[in-house]
Amino acid sequence: QADRYVELRDKPAKAKCGTVVQLLMNAGLMADLPSLPSSGAEGVGLFRTELQFLAQNQMPKRAELVSQYTRVVDAAEGRKVVFRTLDIGSDKVLPYMVPQDEPNPAMGWRAIRVGLDKPGILRMQLQALLRATAGRDLWVMFPFIAQFDEFHGALAELDRAKAREIKLGHVLPKQIHVGAMLETPSLAFAPDQFFKEVDFLSIGGNDLKQFFFAADRENERVRRRYDTLNTSFLNFLEQIVTRARSSQTHLSFCGEDAGRPLEAACFAALGIGTLSMRPASVAPVKHLIRRINLKELKTVIDAARAAGHQSVRGPVTEWLKNGAQ
Ligand code: PEP
Ligand code: MG
Repeated sequence: QADRYVELRDKPAKAKCGTVVQLLMNAGLMADLPSLPSSGAEGVGLFRTELQFLAQNQMPKRAELVSQYTRVVDAAEGRKVVFRTLDIGSDKVLPYMVPQDEPNPAMGWRAIRVGLDKPGILRMQLQALLRATAGRDLWVMFPFIAQFDEFHGALAELDRAKAREIKLGHVLPKQIHVGAMLETPSLAFAPDQFFKEVDFLSIGGNDLKQFFFAADRENERVRRRYDTLNTSFLNFLEQIVTRARSSQTHLSFCGEDAGRPLEAACFAALGIGTLSMRPASVAPVKHLIRRINLKELKTVIDAARAAGHQSVRGPVTEWLKNGAQ
């Protein structure tokens, strides 16, 4: 198996129907970057910046961030790296910040909410990202955007940081691609204008699923209760695909489920063209996608939904067992 995976490394995730799925990897520390060439991923689809904040016992200085981000971008050797700005709060609490006593931190003061209310860290981070990617491409996305104005608020911070760099005579990135993470159901129903304004959207499936089913991702009793391949969830994802398509917004999926081959194949069959996952999952996902016809899989999914299945997992597994063409 392992040898077969090595062989796959430089091959595209091209399905039998000709559809090519872009596979990226998730990362969060410098130590993850050496996996990039060996994993077979084309780039980093989610760089969780909070891990570097969590890995030290005091707030990093801007110069440290600049050097960390520069090393990350250098290590990617021209491949795309999507930086996700700080998502603290909820399950990620910084040891040097005053802990918030919140009854439900996952739905509390976290991510972009903190970034907009207390913009000090977000500003430092954006400045550092601009400097680290001067003259190159910058991909940045904001976590936990629940409504349009939060994206505008974040963009305003980015514009302010850009203006500051210009004033200082610094070189800006060659191109800046600004995206939002779709992690709350509300964003799927945002005005068309939102879908047109973002350069790209990335579905944070871990959070999106927990809010869709109202099932805490940290709670062992309920976290596996609802299948990701549940018809309701797939119907919902399909609506997001349709909206992204009609505004020509690039759409990816970066939650843990993107690293599970069966789930990944179903997402791709629904039309999600980019999947970002832990490095070790890239080869198994690529292996499955290369041996199936995604159009055929879509018809299997559609038939299972039409037949009233609660989840498409059974019919899809059966189809795979029977040789899946
Ligand atoms: C997600 O919610 O799916 C996601 C990718 O972000 P995190 O797991 O860091 O919340
Ligand atoms: Mg999330």
